[in-house]
Amino acid sequence: MKLAGIREFRGVLKVLGSGLRIGGSKEIVGIGEAENPIIRHPITHLPYVPGSSVKGKIRSLLESKYSKDTQESGLPCKCGECLVCQLFGCGDAKRIQSPSRLVFRDAQPTSHTREIWERAGVDSEHKTEVLIDRNKGLAYGRIGPRTMERIPAGSDFDFSFSLRIFEGDNEAEYYRFLAEGFELLSKHYLGGSGSRGYGEVLIVGEDGQTPMHEFLRRQAAQVK
Ligand SMILES: [Zn+2]
Repeated sequence: MKLAGIREFRGVLKVLGSGLRIGGSKEIVGIGEAENPIIRHPITHLPYVPGSSVKGKIRSLLESKYSKDTQESGLPCKCGECLVCQLFGCGDAKRIQSPSRLVFRDAQPTSHTREIWERAGVDSEHKTEVLIDRNKGLAYGRIGPRTMERIPAGSDFDFSFSLRIFEGDNEAEYYRFLAEGFELLSKHYLGGSGSRGYGEVLIVGEDGQTPMHEFLRRQAAQVK
């Protein structure tokens, strides 16, 4: 397969609503630290959004809508032929027909967001959640409360991904399909505890306001 080009897309991932929670590893919990920490950069210790989280979520949303494989098994699509497999990669090595075309980079906080965090002296919030005893209407003494760490709403992250185009690929079709994935993400959630309102995000294009799905649909109209 001959590589025709690599398209780069940049933008901003905006945390809206009630904050974003992408869990990190729990090593040793110090006094006053959350039992359920978020993922942080190993050197700067600042919160970030792993590219794999965004890619995996968009993939799974598109699969639940379009992949028969996934709808039956609940597992990632392994057909090797559909748009999900072409763009995001095929899970079954024997059925791979082409290399995966998408790369999502880790999204680090924008300089503006880092400034806000520095001024406030915090870069995350700790939310305490209590499990309610249904019969007594009281908090369970033994189970709760638990502390969840999350990225505060209003935080922005520099977002980017790239798309490899091979000769014979239908570029416009890829943009339209990806646009749908980004739009589904904006209506669903990223990270954990989505049913409790976490993880509302919007990814916008380079201008900082056009939603990525609209931007990609415009791209699609331009290449055709
Ligand atoms: Zn497939």
